[in-house]
Amino acid sequence: MADERTAGDPAVAEAPEAEAIDAEELEEHAEIDPELLERRREALAEVRQFGDPVLKSAASEVSAFGPELEGEAERMIALMQGALGIGLAATQLGVMRRMLVFQAGPDSAPRALVNPRVEWSSGEEWLAEEGCLSLKGIVVDVERPLHARISARDISGEPVLLEASGLEARVLQHEIDHLDGVLILDRTVREQRRGALRALRSGESFDPSMLEPPDAEVDADAAGDGADPARPSPE
Ligand SMILES: [Zn+2]
Repeated sequence: MADERTAGDPAVAEAPEAEAIDAEELEEHAEIDPELLERRREALAEVRQFGDPVLKSAASEVSAFGPELEGEAERMIALMQGALGIGLAATQLGVMRRMLVFQAGPDSAPRALVNPRVEWSSGEEWLAEEGCLSLKGIVVDVERPLHARISARDISGEPVLLEASGLEARVLQHEIDHLDGVLILDRTVREQRRGALRALRSGESFDPSMLEPPDAEVDADAAGDGADPARPSPE
């Protein structure tokens, strides 16, 4: 299901990597359970990577609820957890349905949302770094509303309304973007987009500190689908 919006984006075929928990960083720590790393590699191998046209395509509304959809949600949750991510959109697996899963914090239960929509978001925005399970080694600054009200269906088709703030609001907006074919590269400033694209082309990693002087006043928190819990940035 390719669309016409891939123009200008170089195709990159790369081994998949982290959302925000950095794979190399993890692997440098010998004490990390090798089974965990292996499970993570397997999960990431299922996630479509930058350059794949599905990541630029909008997903379709879900109209049929039932065991098949439930199975898909379970698979997505298992992959998100295996990848040590905090969110995953169906399109990242090449499934063009409006469904996402998220778990914004180790103590919260994973949830699936079907046909999610940002119903309202705050004028107040905050800037934080985001990574993406579909963008190997890339972290960019993204400004997003601090609060968002999301309407959706749960996995059985019942309407749900979510008032989300902070990291949870950020993850949900990130995943809903995926369902519209929008990536964090489309949400960041031009210099970072350019730097990230260059890194993706050469298979290197990128983060905003590579462009800025060491003392730049940018929030160093990471977020996105696979983030460490982030705090709101002051400005
Ligand atoms: Zn993502």
